[in-house]
Amino acid sequence: MSGVDPERWEVVIGLEVHAELSTRTKLFSSATAEFGGEPNTHIDPLTLGLPGSLPVLNARAVELAVRVGLALGCTVQRSVFARKNYFYPDQPKNYQISQYDLPINVDGSLELPSGQVVGIERAHLEEDTGKSTHIGGGGRIHEARHSLVDLNRAGVPLLEIVGRPDLRSADEARAYVAELRAVLVAVGASDGKMEEGSLRVDCNVSVRPRGSAELGTRCEIKNINSLRSLGRAIDAEAARQVALVEAGERVVQETRHWDEDDGRTHTLRSKEEADDYRYFPDPDLVEVDCDPVWVEEVRASLPLLPAARRARLVERSGASRPHAAIVCERNLDDLCLAALDAGADPERVVNHAVHNLADERAVGLDPAAFAALVAMEVDGTLTATQAKTVLAELVAAGGGDPAELAAAHGFEAMDTSELEGLVDGLIAEHPEEWQRYVEGDPRIAGFFVGRVMKATQGKADGRVVTALLDARRG
Ligand code: ADP
Ligand code: MG
Repeated sequence: MSGVDPERWEVVIGLEVHAELSTRTKLFSSATAEFGGEPNTHIDPLTLGLPGSLPVLNARAVELAVRVGLALGCTVQRSVFARKNYFYPDQPKNYQISQYDLPINVDGSLELPSGQVVGIERAHLEEDTGKSTHIGGGGRIHEARHSLVDLNRAGVPLLEIVGRPDLRSADEARAYVAELRAVLVAVGASDGKMEEGSLRVDCNVSVRPRGSAELGTRCEIKNINSLRSLGRAIDAEAARQVALVEAGERVVQETRHWDEDDGRTHTLRSKEEADDYRYFPDPDLVEVDCDPVWVEEVRASLPLLPAARRARLVERSGASRPHAAIVCERNLDDLCLAALDAGADPERVVNHAVHNLADERAVGLDPAAFAALVAMEVDGTLTATQAKTVLAELVAAGGGDPAELAAAHGFEAMDTSELEGLVDGLIAEHPEEWQRYVEGDPRIAGFFVGRVMKATQGKADGRVVTALLDARRG
């Protein structure tokens, strides 16, 4: 990481992720929650904050919030909606309805593919704001000539997931957001599209001398809209803070804006200017107290989550954690497990899924065809290279008969006795090299395998040749 000496400094990161929930309508009204649309067409009296309009809680939003909470191992508790008061043109009520001291989900955790477990403090429901577009002055409000307001997004349900400061690097932070997104998508709570703003990340960063038990003063970075920006913003902000402290200055707690173009963070507002939101329970809404029986029904309806899928694959196939992560991310774990059920060799199945099945169509591959192909490889009918060629064709067609495809390529099985003859001939022709092989010189194996390959035009299986050589070493 540029500018930060990891021997001396530890970077501490805690993320607040806002996820738009996939409901049909808004959190407190029947206006559509659909993304986009002509400006100010997805609105109604409540969205406009018109006097006399009253909020009615969207039951589906509560259900989705609970699905996420349970998937994160949170406790679902009695919750209260509060008004967070502040003026902003894209929020006509002049307050945002959120949950404050009593959020619906508390105390959970998220397991990353590395095995690291990150604490979740809370995951609460709130409404989204509209969008302002500032015209002139480079798009910033203070120099704009005028501003346009689109309230289509105002009132769309959000789940704010507040993570504990358990992350220690840009890589860990990115892995956390990717995993959280996978969970949100798996439970059907969100489409997870960062590019459409369905998933938005605020990033808190602090630094402390390595070995220190106390947390340093943090800054919160806004305006991060991709995993790449998240990593860059963390590295830039950590380097800025370390440089400050090393120069004998102090980090001031503040909100900073990530500038994608100059690759730096800039002050937005300091703590002294922080808003006083005057939270109080919203008198228009009753508290939400979910029936424990219903909560258990929701829990029972959850799909197998990404971490459990990875663990299942590791257990069934002996795959390494990183390999299991790749296979599950590609949604190929069911294919692999079905191939194992059909008797395929686990190591080869996982190897193919990791190295030869990046093609999106692989999800639709017939597991029986996959297993048959692996069997041909195991019994030496096909070399690894030949198997790869046939596999690509199976994937393109969704299945098929690997034996037929192999025959069409002229991939006939090399007769082992034919190979034996070749190997014996080579040994007789090259006594010096053979002596070195017998003495265990690892570089010389390629000499013999290469010559067999040449003689057979690549049809021989390298592993079979090596086995024959080893058998002759005695
Ligand atoms: P606030 O109520 O002011 O938003 P919180 O205590 O709720 O503050 O923390 C908000 C986020 O900041 C959480 O995601 C948390 O993990 C993170 N955070 C808190 N302290 C630190 C710190 N010293 N360094 C990095 N992140 C932090
Ligand atoms: Mg907060």
